[in-house]
Amino acid sequence: MYVTQKSTGLVCPKDAGDVVERKSRRGTAFYGCANYPDCDFVLWNKPVLEPCPQCQSTFLVEKVTKRHGRQLLCNTEGCDDVRTEELTTA
Ligand SMILES: [Zn+2]
Ligand SMILES: [Zn+2]
Repeated sequence: MYVTQKSTGLVCPKDAGDVVERKSRRGTAFYGCANYPDCDFVLWNKPVLEPCPQCQSTFLVEKVTKRHGRQLLCNTEGCDDVRTEELTTA
């Protein structure tokens, strides 16, 4: 193993591998299966271990935008579950 991989706690829905945080060449963080390149599961948003209320997905992804704040979205194709949470400033 050539880079430090931070586990996200998410289990890959394709082959039950560990989903780990990775950095692209540009320094952008993304999340991919530890079995890459055998498994091509990848997420561009941070996974959150919360089941989707609308489909069978066991996780949602987090997206933070200036306009909408923190959003939890479902990663499943065809599922449009989106939840916007107010950003609380501590
Ligand atoms: Zn996988
Ligand atoms: Zn869903």
